[in-house]
Amino acid sequence: MRKLVIASANTGKLRELSQLFVNLDYQLYPQADFDVPEVAETGTTFVENAIIKARNAAQHTGFAALADDSGIEVDALNGAPGVYSARFSGPDATDETNNALLVEKLRQVPERQRGARYRAVIVYMQNAADASPVICEGSWEGIILLEPHGTGGFGYDPYFYLPERGCTSAELSAELKNKLSHRGQALRQLLERLPQ
Ligand code: IMP
Repeated sequence: MRKLVIASANTGKLRELSQLFVNLDYQLYPQADFDVPEVAETGTTFVENAIIKARNAAQHTGFAALADDSGIEVDALNGAPGVYSARFSGPDATDETNNALLVEKLRQVPERQRGARYRAVIVYMQNAADASPVICEGSWEGIILLEPHGTGGFGYDPYFYLPERGCTSAELSAELKNKLSHRGQALRQLLERLPQ
């Protein structure tokens, strides 16, 4: 079995990845098992941040590593919050404060200009010096609402409206969200592109 370190402390992401790898020749380990120190996400792109995290995990463990980075881009905000989605409303940001700030910034913007997309990047690095990491990307288009709908998902989901579904991403089952989402798209790509 190949050993693969997951550069995340998020238990939801770890669970999701473990399910995906269940029939593959990989043994997954959370980076916490190796006391990998957190690294500052200093990149200005999702790809840079995912590489920074994967490289850090590979460097401290000596194993191949997987990292992801994601966020939401809002057209009327010129692509913000983007890579700063998790900390949009400041260093102590929560989903509630982030969503409140998003709604405040878009309150005067008509719906047709509230287009947005979630983006996800997942990076696989064979080792810390890997010069050609496997980079997988997904994106998912929607419109930002000014009122929340639904209780599923996390983050910006109650405000992320999917016109083709007639509901927000917080109103989808976890299964359907995985099928459609930016992260689901990137994960499926990863499975096809991982070294076997
Ligand atoms: P990451 O954990 O550094 O990738 O942070 C991504 C941030 O983007 C999260 O904290 C959320 O605010 C937002 N985000 C990314 N994907 C989703 C999603 O599927 N639903 C809701 N918010 C998301």
